[in-house]
Amino acid sequence: MKNLTVSFKPTFNNFQPLWIYFVKNRWALAAGVLSLLIVDFLQLMIPLIIKEAINILVVQTSGTGALLVKQGATIGMIALFIALFRYVWRHLLLGHSRKVEQGLRNRLYGHIQTLSLSFFQNTKTGDLMARAVNDINAVRMACGMGLVALVDGFVLGTAAIGFMISIDWRLTLISLIPAPIVVVLTRMVTHQMSARFERVQKSFSDLTEQARESFSGIRVIKAHQREVWEYDKMKAGGERYVGESMHLARTLALFFPLMTLVTNAGLAVVILLGGRYTISGTITPGDFVAFISYLNLLTWPVMAMGWVVSLIQRGSASMRRINDILETVPEIQDSSGKNERDTQSKWEKGVSGKAEGAIDFFGLSFRYPDQKEYVLKDVNLKIRPGETIAIVGRVGSGKTTLLQSLPRLLDVPENMVFVDGRDIRNLPLITLRKKIGFVSQDVFIFSDTVYNNVAFGTDDVTDEEVKQALGVAGIREEMEALQNGLGTLLGERGITLSGGQRQRLTIARAVVGDFSILILDDALSMVDTRTEEGILNRVLDLRRDRTNVIVSHRVSTIRRADRIFVFDRGRLKEDGTHESLILLGGVYAALYEEQLLRESLENGGVNSP
Ligand code: ADP
Repeated sequence: MKNLTVSFKPTFNNFQPLWIYFVKNRWALAAGVLSLLIVDFLQLMIPLIIKEAINILVVQTSGTGALLVKQGATIGMIALFIALFRYVWRHLLLGHSRKVEQGLRNRLYGHIQTLSLSFFQNTKTGDLMARAVNDINAVRMACGMGLVALVDGFVLGTAAIGFMISIDWRLTLISLIPAPIVVVLTRMVTHQMSARFERVQKSFSDLTEQARESFSGIRVIKAHQREVWEYDKMKAGGERYVGESMHLARTLALFFPLMTLVTNAGLAVVILLGGRYTISGTITPGDFVAFISYLNLLTWPVMAMGWVVSLIQRGSASMRRINDILETVPEIQDSSGKNERDTQSKWEKGVSGKAEGAIDFFGLSFRYPDQKEYVLKDVNLKIRPGETIAIVGRVGSGKTTLLQSLPRLLDVPENMVFVDGRDIRNLPLITLRKKIGFVSQDVFIFSDTVYNNVAFGTDDVTDEEVKQALGVAGIREEMEALQNGLGTLLGERGITLSGGQRQRLTIARAVVGDFSILILDDALSMVDTRTEEGILNRVLDLRRDRTNVIVSHRVSTIRRADRIFVFDRGRLKEDGTHESLILLGGVYAALYEEQLLRESLENGGVNSP
């Protein structure tokens, strides 16, 4: 008992965030519950009418035909109303559960989008998908059928028992002997069923994930001739899925026959004992039949009692998992000071007259959460508006980390990173990110048209601008030559682009954005040197008066920069123009030599600048 009261509160507390949907849908809910109660009431009337009909048959000897027509017509009417109100409650109550589902899904999705990158790095996509699908489903079931079973189980159950007691209390007591067994049995089976069901779900999602992985990695599989190996893995996954499904089917297959056995055992006792009471005249034949009808009616509420506990427990567990996400606070918090916004809007309008695109790093040191090593160490760096700078350094020297701190994809401490003279931590995220275009190494193309992939949610972009951007990115002709031109679908539902095409399309997206700062983090690694040179020349020509920050391994690209910053193991080691750094003969000069050698090897040893 103690356990029950202890777990009751948290079970319901988990549902707290859903309260608003219940308040919002209160009229529909009230009307739904009322219809449900009317159906219950009408169902409870049927045995009474049967009772009267039987009594008429037994007592009356003449004129029974006409009387029975009346009883029959009444039952017909009741059935009609039951059908009508059942439709109404299903529509309203199950409709309510769908609205809860929709509200919760939108809230979860909206919230997940605000979370910081680190959240996504630490959470598996599959896990998020499972929450968005299975957990929300379980919550919907609890809010819909759970509610129905609770009301029905309670009202129909107590009323039916009440009517049975009014006929004969001893008979009622005896007939209720199997009821606790049914409740416990339902509870046990549904409990087991949900555990089994979860295992079926899990094995199915494993199977899907495996299929997805093997298709997206098909090139590697073919190249290494691992087709048979993959096939065997898939086969084993399929067998696991069938095995789990069979387990579930066996549990279900056992449940219904067992139920029939238990409830019919009760019926047998009632017929034996009730029959005797009828013969002895303790109850009328009508009472006897009505009693059996109530007993039949009771089967569902008794099962519902067992079911409702599982539905609500499962829904509550799912709600707890969803709440875990909803309660996750984005690590990167938006600034919300009023003064900040006031000065911000002036600044945005350019009242201060300052050219945009200045970047300052003041003694920036940074390490990733849970890591010992600092990946950026006391970085001091100043970029003037309209400058094009290159950042150079070996893999792992901290270039990406530095650049990701600018649009606050990573969060750095206060007073260390400034954009246009403002601490980025004090700028509204939306303003900051509107200023900065970021093209990283891993490009992403959405399953949408070429046009939408470039315009990417920007309303005020014209067709001309999209085409111009495609031209700058050196991909306009290729895209226009597609079957539906810029309206061609890309991605999963459309055509597949090569890595280089994807990168060029992403560059076009960044060009359309017309940002005051553009960051290209190794953004053209998959196109050849000559093409990269052409694209960068066009991008930089177009953005002559804007700030451009470029990370590249290609000598020709780096040379175009006004200034070059050289990083080594998290420290800014050198900075200057290409010529001055070569003269210095330090890290840059060594890197430059290496790159030159590599490029000339890639070009067959004939291309030396
Ligand atoms: P670069 O862009 O110069 O190759 P990065 O900034 O990507 O360098 O990486 C710098 C260092 O930070 C590397 O040692 C890398 O392993 C580490 N690092 C990068 N991202 C993370 C992360 N999300 N969590 C922990 N360490 C990271």
